[in-house]
Amino acid sequence: MDTTVDKLLQDATLALSHMDSGRSGSIHFYEDSMEETVIREDRIEKSLRTIIYSGGNDNFYLCYQPKLDLTTKRITGFEALARLKLEDLGFVSPLEFIDIAERRQLIYDLGRIILKESCEFISGAHAMGFDDIGVSINISGIQLLRKEFVEDVSELAKQFEMDLGCLEFEITESVLLENYEIINHKLKQLKDMGIKISIDDFGTGFSSLARLKELNIDIVKIDKYFIDAVAEKDKDSLITADIISMSHKLGLKVVAEGVENREQLYYLEKNNCDIVQGYLISKPLRKQEAIEKLEESKL
Ligand code: C2E
Ligand code: CA
Ligand code: CA
Repeated sequence: MDTTVDKLLQDATLALSHMDSGRSGSIHFYEDSMEETVIREDRIEKSLRTIIYSGGNDNFYLCYQPKLDLTTKRITGFEALARLKLEDLGFVSPLEFIDIAERRQLIYDLGRIILKESCEFISGAHAMGFDDIGVSINISGIQLLRKEFVEDVSELAKQFEMDLGCLEFEITESVLLENYEIINHKLKQLKDMGIKISIDDFGTGFSSLARLKELNIDIVKIDKYFIDAVAEKDKDSLITADIISMSHKLGLKVVAEGVENREQLYYLEKNNCDIVQGYLISKPLRKQEAIEKLEESKL
């Protein structure tokens, strides 16, 4: 067994990094799994750095999940979802690699690649005659807080000669928990440029319906939890209808995510939800498949 002083110190440092920073005086033991986690994270970080350095490569791409407009029964947009596939690790969930990118200061540069690819997709779809197609992009708080973010986005739109109204930014409620004033001001700047702002995973975080009034947003995206409640005839399903009607009263559009069955769709239609997204309509698709889906939807 490797028991050099260096190794002992390394293990102790690892154990230390797993301590709850708010608590003093607690004891933590080194476990082998801690080392495995760090090795895995280092591997993912390295691949993200390579992707950023090369401006994108085959290991990293976006999938586009269709959104169905319940009024027109047409697909009017997609959510861009990042994918990472590595030879040794296989598919890595965005929940894992986005978190690593955030903690290791890579999210801004990775986010730029995501934004650029999304703009490319939009302008490609427009060139094919799907001119009202938009894409929503998940944006981390760290991206919003960077002072050059707004400028970068408008530069990109210029580069693609794109109307910013085709872009939607999805922000989770947790992003607003810290730096509320600054973030809400940034949202106003983006909204003034024509970008639509959506509150993602709505209902799971801190935002009350009352708070929505003062937020610079256009859309409420109801979390899957409240969509699942519909099928389970849970009493939370009553809240789902309330979220829709209250949002409408505030002049906001409503998107339901994670729609998996007809019962949920029927409920959402009946309660005037504007847009639905989920496996019932389609799984996230590769770029080419997404375009095919648009062609089908036109028929
Ligand atoms: P999210 O923004 O809430 O995205 C929705 C997640 O639900 C996606 O998982 C999607 O594939 C999945 N989903 C869609 N429809 C259904 C359904 O009917 N049933 C079920 N069970 N799941 C459904 P995914 O792609 O694994 O993304 C997970 C999370 O990773 C996202 O949650 C988002 O927070 C983050 N993420 C993904 N792409 C990006 C990105 O480009 N930037 C940032 N900052 N975060 C991203
Ligand atoms: Ca989202
Ligand atoms: Ca969501």
